Amino acid sequence: MKKSQADVVFTNGRVYTVDNQQPWSEAVAVSNGRFTAVGNAADISACIGPQTNVIDLGGKMVLPGFIDSHAHVSCTTNETASLEMFHLESLEDYLDAVREFATNHPEHEVIYGGGWHNDLFPPTGPVKKDLDAVVSDRPVCLMSEDGHFDWVNSKAIEMAGISKDTVAPAGGIIEKDPLTGEPSGTFRETARDLIQNVLPPFTVDQIKGSIRNFMQEAASVGITTVHDPLLILPDADGQLIGFGAGRNNIQAYAEMARDSELTVRVRGTVLTDPTLDADQVQAIKSVCEQQDNPLFKMTGIKVFVDGVVEGATAFLLEPYAHMPDTCGEPLWDLDNLKSLFAEAARERLQIHIHAIGDAAIRMSLDALEHARSTHGTLDSRHLITHLHILDRTDIPRMAALNVIGVPQPFWFVKGDYFHNLEARYLGLERAEKEYPMKSLKDAGILLAGASDYPVQVPSPPLLGIMLGVTRCEPGETDPNEILGPEERMTLEEMIACFTINGAHANFLEHETGSIEVGKNADMVVLENNLFEIPATEIANTKVLMTIFEGQSVYRDAAI
Ligand SMILES: [Zn+2]
Repeated sequence: MKKSQADVVFTNGRVYTVDNQQPWSEAVAVSNGRFTAVGNAADISACIGPQTNVIDLGGKMVLPGFIDSHAHVSCTTNETASLEMFHLESLEDYLDAVREFATNHPEHEVIYGGGWHNDLFPPTGPVKKDLDAVVSDRPVCLMSEDGHFDWVNSKAIEMAGISKDTVAPAGGIIEKDPLTGEPSGTFRETARDLIQNVLPPFTVDQIKGSIRNFMQEAASVGITTVHDPLLILPDADGQLIGFGAGRNNIQAYAEMARDSELTVRVRGTVLTDPTLDADQVQAIKSVCEQQDNPLFKMTGIKVFVDGVVEGATAFLLEPYAHMPDTCGEPLWDLDNLKSLFAEAARERLQIHIHAIGDAAIRMSLDALEHARSTHGTLDSRHLITHLHILDRTDIPRMAALNVIGVPQPFWFVKGDYFHNLEARYLGLERAEKEYPMKSLKDAGILLAGASDYPVQVPSPPLLGIMLGVTRCEPGETDPNEILGPEERMTLEEMIACFTINGAHANFLEHETGSIEVGKNADMVVLENNLFEIPATEIANTKVLMTIFEGQSVYRDAAI
């Protein structure tokens, strides 16, 4: 049969398709951004015509483009809009950087920034007086590395009208000076909104800058689809768990999709407010329905059920080891959560749940069970991300409810963070059981991989794939330093997490996630065949080329 001429043929590759019908092939043909043929080199040569661009892959490995199913792309800002602190390692460095940034940006009404490390400060967090010493005339608002706390100066506290008498909203903590009772400068979870709702948000252009920044990085590590779980309704001003500064992010994505500027496919979920009732689902639904560009769509709602271990805001079944009087608190009460989930299920919206502690995960499953009993089994693809501490008895419930798990394998190591913070806060025994993955997989739970960018920067999926397989620090040889050896995944399983399973989690399994005829031509070309190198070398493997919808969006000099 005569095959029609392709726009591009990629040949002489080791193509791991992630398609069970035909796991390996040598060549693919692409026309109009989609795969038109996948097979051996001889077959595909029939698609080559005089106009066809033929690319010789030189025997290199090809995978489907990677999917990051939970990355806060738009709630970061590029270096011109905010101060990036992830790479800094001391209070002195932070203060120098804030001073310098403020001097270089007299036009910024607010000094925004983020990435400071929790383990450099006492459990009560950093203090305002350190910031006051470097910037006192303008508000400063710096987000922690995990995105759950803000460190602010006195000017920000004053603009927000917060005093020692201000009571923190439910689910939030205002850290106070033990002597004066005044806010000391750290605001946790919902308490951040007292500040963020008052300060001017990032502009659409500033947010576009952060998305462009991410796209560049994404292309260089092979990501072609991403889920942004922190979209904010443009007129929202309630409890947004401190993400109010991102109020223009839906507009930024929508304009970039309209202008064909996106070089990653974006799916997103819209943040819900724990102080509002289930009616908020209607407002979210109508905003979701306004976006129907294949490059950018919204699939449903995002719900923070708890906080994070490092602020003792994750909701646990047993108390924290360093604070035996607290188990943390959920950000929602169970009845509200049940009504919210039932309403979202009724409107066929996907529910994207942040749950870290075992009590938060159980509560999420209780609410999902309620939604199912009210509206039956729908193809809703609800998912729980993070899943740090999970009571084993909840695993079969999660499977029975068809809940997708979205873990961040980047964290599956016993590094400094584990020893200095997680083991101290949770107790070693509980910390050793963190981050189950294989047991979820074996129970039949679909797992999609994610980085939680910018908690993880950079966030190459190959590192996530490697750590899911090894569960130890790169270069570690001591078997005692493997975090839960029985939870290690195979390479095939980890590749599926960052490709086809991610596609499923984002309702994109007919569009991407495997190399199959009819799907978008999203591919990544790698220096080494991952199946022929030691697992510890996976993250060192170079991405040589990233193809998004048939177009090269990244090309290393070596190819
Ligand atoms: Zn997150």
